[in-house]
Amino acid sequence: MINKQTSYFIIIIIIITAISCLEAVAWRTVGYRGSHSNFQEEVFSGMKVQILSALQDNYMYLIVDEATKEAAIVDPVEPDKVLSAVQKAGVRLTSVLTTHHHWDHAGGNTNLVKQAPSALEVYGGDDRIGALTRKVKHGDKFNVGQLSIKCLATPCHTSGHICYFVESPGHPPAVFTGDTLFIAGCGRFFEGTPDQMYQALVETLGHLPNDTKVFCGHEYTVANLKFAQHVEPTNEDIKKKMAWAEGKRAHRQPTVPSTIGEEKLYNPFMRVTEKSVQEHAKISDPIKTMGFIRREKDDFRA
Ligand SMILES: [Zn+2]
Repeated sequence: MINKQTSYFIIIIIIITAISCLEAVAWRTVGYRGSHSNFQEEVFSGMKVQILSALQDNYMYLIVDEATKEAAIVDPVEPDKVLSAVQKAGVRLTSVLTTHHHWDHAGGNTNLVKQAPSALEVYGGDDRIGALTRKVKHGDKFNVGQLSIKCLATPCHTSGHICYFVESPGHPPAVFTGDTLFIAGCGRFFEGTPDQMYQALVETLGHLPNDTKVFCGHEYTVANLKFAQHVEPTNEDIKKKMAWAEGKRAHRQPTVPSTIGEEKLYNPFMRVTEKSVQEHAKISDPIKTMGFIRREKDDFRA
């Protein structure tokens, strides 16, 4: 028989255990508060990409060469988050890949360089980028461990915008597109023309292998797909992607990456050569169609 004192003791232990479990859950929840997407990691082809959410809807990407554990970070606007991810992953950060000079992409460069345990090479295509050490142009190549990285100039959103194409031999590549190409959308034309965005999306990024994984600068997918549906109401690929993306966002999961091949199916800005998009714009020229749908998207409210 358990006496009264022992049973009180057991009840107290149960209550204390329950409270500490609840606290653990609360702490985890607090830990996630303030980040728009949960932590996620993509492993492929000897290259690991950690998707790090930042600010309201930005993404930073930690690219790790699995063979050498050397790493690069794309657009490190929140240096503390980056350094803690680097430490947890046990990798050696050597490079910063900056897509463009806007503060929500390049605004963390100077502090990251100050706080990093060793010297960082800071790549970018624009003198307005903080802590820049290597100004790059279209076609420039460099390595991070055994990963080879090619710079693709895509001026339009900003005049010095660079996308980074990353290859690991014998496996699907990846491209980091900043604010040029979004999933189902593209960046605003702050410093460029429809012709330049046509070159960037259709000629430059559109000619990458279809299985190239696309990692973009913001989580705008659902809003972009609403506009895509407005442009092409009968496009089944848009409907499918929308159902998928809404499911992901309901669980605060990122919708990156997509692939170049997928973007060609539902992204109206990559589809300006398609009849259905040109008919929506009532224009038969793809560059004028690009200008028309961008102006329309600028004012679009779903
Ligand atoms: Zn931008």
